[in-house]
Amino acid sequence: MYIETINVYVLRSDRLCEPFGYSQMWYDDRGSCVVQVITNEGIEGWGEAFGPAELNAAVIEKGLAPMILGSDPFDVEVIWQSLYNRYRDYGQKGIIICGMSALDIALWDIMGKAVDLPVCRLLGGVFRREFPAYATGLYFSPDFSLNKLIKEAQGYLDAGFRSIKMKIGYHPREDIQFVQAVREAIGYDCQLMVDANHAYNAQTAIELGRRLEEYQVSWFEEPVPPEDIEGYIEVKHALDMAVAGGEGEYTRYGFKNLICRRAVDIVQPDTCCAGGLTEARKLVTLANTHGIQYNPHVWGTGIALYCGMHLIASIPDNPPSINPLPPMLEYDQTPNPLRENITMELPEVNKGLVSVPLDRAGLGITIDQEALARYAVAKSVVKA
Ligand code: MG
Repeated sequence: MYIETINVYVLRSDRLCEPFGYSQMWYDDRGSCVVQVITNEGIEGWGEAFGPAELNAAVIEKGLAPMILGSDPFDVEVIWQSLYNRYRDYGQKGIIICGMSALDIALWDIMGKAVDLPVCRLLGGVFRREFPAYATGLYFSPDFSLNKLIKEAQGYLDAGFRSIKMKIGYHPREDIQFVQAVREAIGYDCQLMVDANHAYNAQTAIELGRRLEEYQVSWFEEPVPPEDIEGYIEVKHALDMAVAGGEGEYTRYGFKNLICRRAVDIVQPDTCCAGGLTEARKLVTLANTHGIQYNPHVWGTGIALYCGMHLIASIPDNPPSINPLPPMLEYDQTPNPLRENITMELPEVNKGLVSVPLDRAGLGITIDQEALARYAVAKSVVKA
């Protein structure tokens, strides 16, 4: 079996009814780069890249996809390393690795379909079929109010979530108000996390973090910029609450510092940009070796969500016990017509838990071709 054709899609939604934002930018619409890899036997695999859709698509179309035509999709390690070697002088991080991630995920989907097994079984087996999902939401909005925030948080409880992550990074004074309002609204039975998307330096993050500990925040995500490893270490040492990060990091070489220096308590590689499932397996091992919790970052369509679920199912308990703390699925709840429509399936949350599909081969997703055509603003075909 060999790779015959690769279709690269740029998907973009219409303008959202209302923009939303976080500490770095505002969103008016949603985009994603999705790939479909097709073999000579007609097996197709789907993958997704996290990050700017048009840039990811250009790199895949021009630089990556042509190199893997004719390869056996089971050669994931060989393919990954040959792409990385070709571009390592210019692309150890960023768009090149995002593009590689999308293609790699599609190859795992193909492998699963070829042997009629779900991807998590190919990753080494199922440590847990069910695991917690947390709602990612509570972003900034132009007509922001505490009432609106509280209503949104209560909506997540009604939808079955038992864990919620909210945005901070607006300003320390307001951040405290937001967190206090949400915590009082949802009570203390629900887990609450905060994400600053690296809006602060270490000193401000520590000062803010100490205040937020009063509200039993489970983790402080991206308190400082991803490059500031020393800052992470300072924040981690100063606070009792866990520090999380890693969605802006790439490959085992990039994660080496973050994990081996124990700069975070929880590491959050995004499989759709950190190097795909082939690299995620290595990152899981690295984190496990250093006693660090692995909760993958997920922010995309159903392709990214199911990819995250298969990975989570295959992550060993760390540390093992009769009642271990499982890895959690990040389940983005912000407005995203692409997430809602591109795949026929979406994870269902029941009592805070989701379950990985074991009865479907590969990633276990079906692409809605009509929705794909509707949201595709560009498509390129790479074939011999
Ligand atoms: Mg984040």
